Amino acid sequence: MNKNSNKPEELIAGYHRFREGYFLEHQKKLTMLSKGQSPNIAVLSCCDSRVDPTIIFDTPPGELFVIRNIANLVPSYENDGRPKGTSSALEFAVMELKVSHLVVLGHAQCGGVRALMDRKSNHTPSSFVDQWMAIVEPIKQDILSQNLPAEDRYAACEKAVIRQSLQNLMTFPWVEERVREKKLTLHGWYYDLNTATLSFDQETDSTHSPS
Ligand SMILES: [Zn+2]
Repeated sequence: MNKNSNKPEELIAGYHRFREGYFLEHQKKLTMLSKGQSPNIAVLSCCDSRVDPTIIFDTPPGELFVIRNIANLVPSYENDGRPKGTSSALEFAVMELKVSHLVVLGHAQCGGVRALMDRKSNHTPSSFVDQWMAIVEPIKQDILSQNLPAEDRYAACEKAVIRQSLQNLMTFPWVEERVREKKLTLHGWYYDLNTATLSFDQETDSTHSPS
């Protein structure tokens, strides 16, 4: 795949299109949103440039609180006093915005998952991606032990990562509490880039059935 040759100037041109088009068309709503946000749904998705939750779910500004990281991972709850990007965004979504739904959105052809599965040895200590993906190292070992055909291993890992993220979410005491009180529902969805198909896991999501 050739590298996209977009230049920053094209982003500025896009901004002007937005300012003269979308903004003017939705000025009333966007001005109202400038007073504050109150989305009811948070989505944790991968940073992948092909997986943009607001486009996939066709949602306007103010409706989705989006958290993005490599491979849509949730680390286990750990309060060791060190700064944490994903955990702080989750805390804000759950504790401040009080979202009612939290969707972990995994996807096909995930580069983070490929980095994990293709790595020959243990992680490179200097690689932040390797250190991050080590969160789900046990999943890799589990999948390798299943003797799946090589072409099926990535998808199996991508789906297992969603389940692991949902399990890890429940290690956060304020997530567990709100789920127990039925104030928050967790969802695990998977987006297939090849077919633009959204699927969900019966084990992890019994409340929604996207088709
Ligand atoms: Zn990805």
